[in-house]
Amino acid sequence: MDRKEYISVVLPLRLGWLPCYSTEEPLARGERVKVRFAGREYVGVVWEVGVRPETDPSKVQPVMSREPLPPVTECELKLWEFVSSYYLCSIGEVYKAAYPVLRIEEEETARRMRERVEAKAEAAAQRREEKIRKLESRLEAKKVLIEKARTARTRDAYQEAAGEIERQLAELLKPESKPAESSQPVREVSLSPAQQIAKNEIDKCLQTRRVVLLNGITGSGKTEIYLAMAKEQLARGKNVLYLVPEIALSRQLEDRLRAYFGQSLLTFHSAETSAHRREVAAALSERPYVVLGTRSAIFLPHGNLGLVIVDEEHDGSYKQDSPAPRYQGRDTAVVLASIHGAKVVLGSATPSMESLYNCHTGLFAKVDLKERFYAGGEADVEIIDTIAERRKRGMSGSLSLKLIAHMRKALDGGGQVVLLRGRRAYSPIVQCDSCGDIPHCPHCNVALSYHKPSGRLVCHYCGFSAPFSGKCGKCGGNLLPVGAGTQRIEEEVATLFPDVGVARLDGDTSPAQVQSVIRSFAAGETRILVGTQMVSKGFDFEGLNLVAVIAADTLVGQQNFRADERAVQLLEQFRGRCGRRGKKGLFVIQTARPTHPVYAFLRGEETDGDAILEERREFGYPPFTRIVKLILRDTSEERLDKLAARLSSRLCSDFGISPTLIANPSAAVSLTGPYKPSPDRIAGKFIRHIRFVIKRDKNLMRNKQQILTSINAFEKETAWTGHVSIDVDPL
Ligand code: ADP
Ligand code: ZN
Repeated sequence: MDRKEYISVVLPLRLGWLPCYSTEEPLARGERVKVRFAGREYVGVVWEVGVRPETDPSKVQPVMSREPLPPVTECELKLWEFVSSYYLCSIGEVYKAAYPVLRIEEEETARRMRERVEAKAEAAAQRREEKIRKLESRLEAKKVLIEKARTARTRDAYQEAAGEIERQLAELLKPESKPAESSQPVREVSLSPAQQIAKNEIDKCLQTRRVVLLNGITGSGKTEIYLAMAKEQLARGKNVLYLVPEIALSRQLEDRLRAYFGQSLLTFHSAETSAHRREVAAALSERPYVVLGTRSAIFLPHGNLGLVIVDEEHDGSYKQDSPAPRYQGRDTAVVLASIHGAKVVLGSATPSMESLYNCHTGLFAKVDLKERFYAGGEADVEIIDTIAERRKRGMSGSLSLKLIAHMRKALDGGGQVVLLRGRRAYSPIVQCDSCGDIPHCPHCNVALSYHKPSGRLVCHYCGFSAPFSGKCGKCGGNLLPVGAGTQRIEEEVATLFPDVGVARLDGDTSPAQVQSVIRSFAAGETRILVGTQMVSKGFDFEGLNLVAVIAADTLVGQQNFRADERAVQLLEQFRGRCGRRGKKGLFVIQTARPTHPVYAFLRGEETDGDAILEERREFGYPPFTRIVKLILRDTSEERLDKLAARLSSRLCSDFGISPTLIANPSAAVSLTGPYKPSPDRIAGKFIRHIRFVIKRDKNLMRNKQQILTSINAFEKETAWTGHVSIDVDPL
């Protein structure tokens, strides 16, 4: 009798199907098994049991072994299924993201290491036992000697020796010092009246809705509200997931949360090792928890989840660009919560259009908090027209004389200044003064940036660099820096204010330096900080009363329908950095286009995102539609163009449409492309995009699946596999 059962298994691969294996011992969905696939061994997850093999059952390979690892929970599997079908990727790719170490060799190494550690601990315990036994028998012997001692002097000597042995014994028998179970009393939250009102409102809304958007201005103390809500969950025996967009921010927040949650706080972010992941995963089942993490913490084996908090929900770093699954952490967190029957609080000073739209449709509730915790600190906005200033000779290098005067005043008053410039490096490009040539990266279609400290020309896309000689490779003329990045601004500022400490914070600052730069600015040792977008988020510096953006145009001028939304969010965040302790602040924006609508927002002439939302509706952009972007890459431009055209026409015929130059807002599906993105070559690969705009109607899911089906068929036909990536809801 054949007692074999057949199961389908998820492998950590980009496979459009789930391979089948046979097993003699019964296995359950979610269990982990070791299997062989295409000549390699993998740890897979049992997806379905009792399947009927599609091929000859005698050819189905058996499972090699069942792995002694905790099974994947049903909630996790449900989430994987959602991510895979929504973001058009394989379940294996989600598995790989959720359990980063899956290759059998690595699992094996991890297990060997664990065993070695355990063996060591066991040996140490044995040695300890032996020592104790020896000491005890020596003590016995001494006691006998004490009994038999004839003089007081010998008795005292034996007594002393016995005492020493007892001390050693006591030392060995002391219970092993466990990491302190935090005897410190954990701090209580006390909300301001405005915060309490907002929290009551949130609680009320959550009785009828799953998701609340907390739209609270910067400095209103949203964090304090999250803390109060998280505490209540723990008190009810429920767990909390607290998501933040970036690691740098989570580190700062960690200290703050530790005081409130002590041992119940666990932290997790994507750069974490797999050993740490295992530890956190194990801790989740041991005690009530608040997990503070970045988007990948969504994939931990959560249980008994009561609340998910997504702070700075508008932040672009919630979206994973690469590799697949290209998921949006905020949206996936909402799905995670619904799988667990948990509630969600999304928080932001400048909510995403997606969330505002969901509030308009009634899916989410919105709660406003319009009062700063430290009243009176709101920064005034001053916009400086750099073209007009230049004409009036009102510019000195990158800075206007007006801004320099504001800086001087702030510094004289004992304050601090942060300047934001959207480009790192000394100059974004260099150009020959005689032939006009601009050196480009040999691997990317991108101009090289000049980095003064290292004396090199650097590609910001692939990392290529070459020494900068100052001489043009084409004609021997002089290569001159064009434009100013953060390094050059830092240099200009240091010349203007020679007596004040100036520091820089950008992508060239190492993680270790980041901490020290922040610390010395917080301590007032440096008083001017120059940086990229990094300086716009999360920081809380007491003495900061002037923030300024240099060349704001690079932030608002991007050719992307989300550019204005993002510019407003960035600028509003940045403005919120100053005047946080109730001291009046000033926000200066230097721009060549002072009439741009983004600035009207900041001046408060437009109070919410409704105007942007209206524009999105008119042009048929998300959130009114969905976008699916296909990214095609190849080392041969000729082959890429040929196959991109072929894929585009295949997709058009599968959907029965013709390609358009711009998306048609009323069509169910429109396709544009293939077109060249900018840059159109990175790290030796040419790139083309194809873009779908799909109506949000009942056919949305089916249309998205059709894209995947067509691509799979196309890949089979052309054997051009691995060249097409799918990005759903791209940024
Ligand atoms: P947001 O996240 O809304 O920008 P924060 O939560 O960072 O604001 O709060 C701004 C500042 O106000 C912080 O320094 C914070 O410590 C302080 N703060 C806010 N609410 C309270 C409160 N209830 N009790 C004590 N300090 C608070
Ligand atoms: Zn490059």
